[in-house]
Amino acid sequence: MLAASVTYSAPLLMRSGLRLPALGTEFRAHPGTPMLGVYDDPIDMGRGATQGWASTHFRDNPGFKLETLALPLDMLAGRLPGAGAQLMERLREYRHMAMWVQGIRAESVGRVRPALGGRSAIHYSFHRQDMERLVAGMRTLADMHFAAGARAVLPCIHGMPYALGPDEVHRLDDAPRDPRAYVAILSHLFGGCVMGRDAGSSVCDGEGRVHDHEALFVTDASVIPTNLGVNPQQTIMALARLIAERALERGALPRSSMMRAARDDPGRVASA
Ligand SMILES: Cc1cc2nc3c(=O)[nH]c(=O)nc-3n(C[C@H](O)[C@H](O)[C@H](O)COP(=O)(O)OP(=O)(O)OC[C@H]3O[C@@H](n4cnc5c(N)ncnc54)[C@H](O)[C@@H]3O)c2cc1C
Repeated sequence: MLAASVTYSAPLLMRSGLRLPALGTEFRAHPGTPMLGVYDDPIDMGRGATQGWASTHFRDNPGFKLETLALPLDMLAGRLPGAGAQLMERLREYRHMAMWVQGIRAESVGRVRPALGGRSAIHYSFHRQDMERLVAGMRTLADMHFAAGARAVLPCIHGMPYALGPDEVHRLDDAPRDPRAYVAILSHLFGGCVMGRDAGSSVCDGEGRVHDHEALFVTDASVIPTNLGVNPQQTIMALARLIAERALERGALPRSSMMRAARDDPGRVASA
């Protein structure tokens, strides 16, 4: 049973000598970019829930999810443009800032491979349509901040002003289409060992079993062949349980005590 993540499962199988054309392909992600709002009242995002609110309203069209995401002061300092005295001055407004982010249901596809020193190398960039989604998401976040009473937004986009007022928000429509101009993170990853029927275009079958290998299963996000558009953790856990249970039913795994416990009393194993 292999569950080393999207960044490590496929490279680990490659290093182990597995040769399947789809291995390491179909890498996908939800790239996330922030938009800060500056309010007259203190927001104090460093207190309370880290991710308190989310909206899937735009998941299908144009294809992004919105959520609040609070950062402590030191992490925010790494996202704001500027350095030295200028950055310190900007951080003085920390208590009045709220950070909202978008996670894009990107269609761009990349690849993961083994790299030197046991590490992994990922080749991934945005195609034009995803850049349009990204810019639309930034504009939506800015509009929402102003609707909520922000006096300014901070786009954190290279080449754009540090702050935009309500009358300047339209400038976001002309924001750069170069992904390198953005502060983005990829926290939700998919692919590398994707499920499918055909050994030419997939790595595992629909039950997580690596093609032509009777007792080798992958049970992490690398088997997911698409970009979910929502936070994936529960789907990953459900898939892992399903794959383990089916493998047990097929007699492909030794019936260790943990496996028996998972089958006979899933609630106990989950709580453990
Ligand atoms: C900052 C951040 C915030 C997130 N927030 C959310 C959220 O709010 N909701 C949500 O649904 N998802 C969230 N995610 C995404 C979620 O954490 C991942 O999608 C999920 O953990 C992926 O599960 P996985 O089993 O594929 O890989 P992982 O959880 O990464 O597990 C892989 C494990 O394999 C281990 N490993 C790797 N190589 C080896 C090896 N050679 N030998 C032994 N062990 C190895 C790793 O150490 C790791 O423990 C977030 C991710 C990040 C980074």
